[in-house]
Amino acid sequence: MAESTGQKGALVITVVIITVNIIINTVTVSARALPSNTHQHSGDQCGYKSCPATKSSMLNVHLVPHTHDDVGWLKTVDQYYYGERNYIQHAGVQYILDSVVSELQKNPARRFIYVETAFFYRWWNDQNENTRKIVTQLVQEGRLEFVNGGWCMSDEASTHYSAVIDQMTLGLRFLNETFGECGRPRVAWHIDPFGHAREHASMFAQMGYDGLFFGRLDYQDKQRRLQMKEMEMVWRGSESLNASTADLFTGVLPNGYNPPQGFCWDQFCSDDPVQDDPELENYNVDELVTKFISTAKTQADTYKTNHIIMTMGSDFQYENAIPWYKNMDKLIHYVNAQQANGSQVNVLYSTPSCYLQELHLSDQKWPLKTDDFFPYADGPHEFWTGYFTSRPALKRYERLSNSLLQTCNQLEVLGGKMSRDGVFGKGDSDAMKQAMAVAQHHDAVSGTEKQHVADDYAKQLAVGWAHCQVLVSNSLAVLSESDVPRVFCENLNISVCPITESSKMFSLNVYNPLARPVSWSVRLPVNGTLYNITDSSGKQVENQVVPVSKATQNVRRGQGYAKYELVFEVQAPPLGFSTYSITLLKANRSPAEPNHSAPLSIQNKYLKASFDPETGLLSGLTNLETQQNIQLTQNFYWYKASVGNVDSSQTSGAYIFRPNSSSPVIINNKPEISTVQNSVVQEVRQQFSPWVSQVIRLYENSRELELEWTIGPVPVDDNWGKEVITRLDSNINSAGYFYTDSNGREVLERRKDYRPTWDLKQTEPIAGNYYPINSRAFIKDANSQMTVVTDRSQGISSIYNGSLEIMLHRRLLRDDYRGVGEPLSEPGEFKEGLVVRGKLLLIVTPPETAADSHRPLAQGIVLQPLLSFQQGVLPHSAKLEFSALDAALPPAVHLLTLSQLSSDSVLLRLEHQFEKKESKTFSQPVTVNLMKLFSTLEVLGASEMSLGANQWKENMSRFQWNTTTDADMKPLWAEMRDPSPWEVTLNPMEIRTFLLSVQQK
Ligand SMILES: [Zn+2]
Repeated sequence: MAESTGQKGALVITVVIITVNIIINTVTVSARALPSNTHQHSGDQCGYKSCPATKSSMLNVHLVPHTHDDVGWLKTVDQYYYGERNYIQHAGVQYILDSVVSELQKNPARRFIYVETAFFYRWWNDQNENTRKIVTQLVQEGRLEFVNGGWCMSDEASTHYSAVIDQMTLGLRFLNETFGECGRPRVAWHIDPFGHAREHASMFAQMGYDGLFFGRLDYQDKQRRLQMKEMEMVWRGSESLNASTADLFTGVLPNGYNPPQGFCWDQFCSDDPVQDDPELENYNVDELVTKFISTAKTQADTYKTNHIIMTMGSDFQYENAIPWYKNMDKLIHYVNAQQANGSQVNVLYSTPSCYLQELHLSDQKWPLKTDDFFPYADGPHEFWTGYFTSRPALKRYERLSNSLLQTCNQLEVLGGKMSRDGVFGKGDSDAMKQAMAVAQHHDAVSGTEKQHVADDYAKQLAVGWAHCQVLVSNSLAVLSESDVPRVFCENLNISVCPITESSKMFSLNVYNPLARPVSWSVRLPVNGTLYNITDSSGKQVENQVVPVSKATQNVRRGQGYAKYELVFEVQAPPLGFSTYSITLLKANRSPAEPNHSAPLSIQNKYLKASFDPETGLLSGLTNLETQQNIQLTQNFYWYKASVGNVDSSQTSGAYIFRPNSSSPVIINNKPEISTVQNSVVQEVRQQFSPWVSQVIRLYENSRELELEWTIGPVPVDDNWGKEVITRLDSNINSAGYFYTDSNGREVLERRKDYRPTWDLKQTEPIAGNYYPINSRAFIKDANSQMTVVTDRSQGISSIYNGSLEIMLHRRLLRDDYRGVGEPLSEPGEFKEGLVVRGKLLLIVTPPETAADSHRPLAQGIVLQPLLSFQQGVLPHSAKLEFSALDAALPPAVHLLTLSQLSSDSVLLRLEHQFEKKESKTFSQPVTVNLMKLFSTLEVLGASEMSLGANQWKENMSRFQWNTTTDADMKPLWAEMRDPSPWEVTLNPMEIRTFLLSVQQK
């Protein structure tokens, strides 16, 4: 990007101004201020132009020196950066960058790639001007190249696309602002994630990457690909977007991301160095050269071209870069010297992008991949499907934090300058942006880190919350014209909120981050029994007081003392808020105590849930609008975690799910039941055991059934690690098929004991059928579809016809030998085992209209309203309702990003949230007028950018690739064009990213 203006000190981004009179003008918008020594650079020598020469008649071996620096795993991010606690793992990222920069200067042929911007950002901030100058020069000459370049290398199973796009944007924009076009990574590099999501391929393509390389895939898949020379392919990232938009060249690296055997020269490796003094006894050049040439030829046999790649590095390597570079210098020298004797092997320092360029020039046809790389197994009993659910509370906290971050970003824009520095002091979204970006790492939200590191991730998110809450308070003070202090209640899920518990009069502000109006049922912990609630127009709001459940009383243990919950429905306008006033009335009536018998059914005007009068279990679900009716039982079970004494030593652990039997243990066939039924909500409360309970809930106006589960502390005194699932068994004839979302976006078809791209030899009948979901899964037959929408990422499967099972919680007693070195046994607040609570939302619809329901429902869970409370009566001047939009966006359009970039520029992402074929009503192109979007902001100009916001859209040009299956190329989807520069059209599943120049109206 970085259109150079020669202006020192700031990267200047040009925004095209659009006015109603179609006067096209230009203004400059400064991005974040940069260090004064930053030099603009046009990119003449970096990128593909800086690639080393190769020999077309020979086998070219691209040595790629690299380090893999986890943004937290066995140690925290800080500990890794500084090299603290080396007794856990010897690793210090600051020294890696110090050492590499010093070694790169010794030989212009040397190359290095760097990946994790979270670390590079810290290191860069630590450097003096001289070092920065040197580094900038290395970057400009392509000797130090950024690949991937996101804040971290995100997990692909448990991340939501919205947070992945944000973390990539944070990293890519820092690189752009620091190095300009030479800092733009060409290659996505996901060498370590444990399975690969198709949505990631789609996002990387839309971010402008030319290719993706990764290290891990199923061992059976790898075997076949090696035989068929299909280690490199074109991955079709989307069924809705055009191939040119979402196809991505994808390469599987030969050795994971490690060097070939015998050639690891890090200070922690024990392979022999190149000993090249022929006078000495240990002279080994001939032996090493022969071995290297043979290794290269063997590798070349499984790849298509006369170029191969070798990853020369591994986890936290190059802390001392000398042994690596010194030995590679010699290796290159001696191997190439053999060319004089007729050797056809040419070895060179290179980078993934230089290797990719050679593949592109080779003009090959590549196989086409249309599904994804889940689940990942590295052996017959080693399915990495446990981490889909590991650390369910962290997974939920990360998701909630994303919701708050989006709200925080929006309110920073809407509240103007006072948001960051207002009546409640200084607030910001920076801490949350960074904490959320770190949380996307493949050992963070994945749940595969050590306990102390998981605690640190949560703590950093909590710091982000605190900063954002000040910003939100400042902004809402501006927008509501009221300085009455606000409090936020983070423990509403366990009915704890001091202000509502004790106050006789308070107001509730409901901020809605969605671009359409929402209704939301709130439950506030209270001690009174009769309340008057009025909405922003003064109208009375129907409400009910219900007793706090026993399960909640058990969980909160001394926090809060509310006896009741005040339940009512609120509405909030698009991208805005609505305020409710709540007053305790004098009354000596007691709310109805729960009834201890199971009802035959609970129902409202949309939905009816039936119960088995014998067992108290759910027995059916009827959509009263469409008359769909399914039989449905739901119960809780646990799998016995393998402890390693059955036919191999593999245990269940943080990564791996390995039940020791395919039959899970049922917890209770006849739970204790109590029932609450009133005009606002109907609840069937089920207690299955002291550690498993559930509330099945139907609100008066909702079209979905809510299943709120509470699990823990999972007992392990019987010496069994437990993997707890809930199973929904229906009479839907699903015939082995089920459907799961990819990073919360497009949906993929799954089939029991089957993989679309190879003949699966199924060796784990349960674990080998688990897949990740981020927001939804469904089963269907010709008549009915049952969709479950979740509140966090989880593992799911369909083992039986008509059945869906979701893993909710895991507590294990063994490590699974994948490096974390700890059993996954979260202690929780009271050190007895973690208690986790969450929700599943169930809908039954005809298959053809299911998306019309589950798309908005899932977005409403991802971006949920933010509740804040104010004590007493608000001043009359206070504004009780506000919307930042002129009108709600069309139902197909989701406002994905609204975030302040500089004082007068804003990042906007609009998304079409339906797939091409999934909705008769909404899978149509839809047009939005950027000028008429906001009620409070005037849009002065708009420029379209790549998805990662580090390149102008018009400058994006990616390598195009030919596939071996050109005949299967889908016909070009006739994308609708924009009617005018400010009326933008979104085609199904399209995300468009704009840099807006704005001013407050
Ligand atoms: Zn890693």
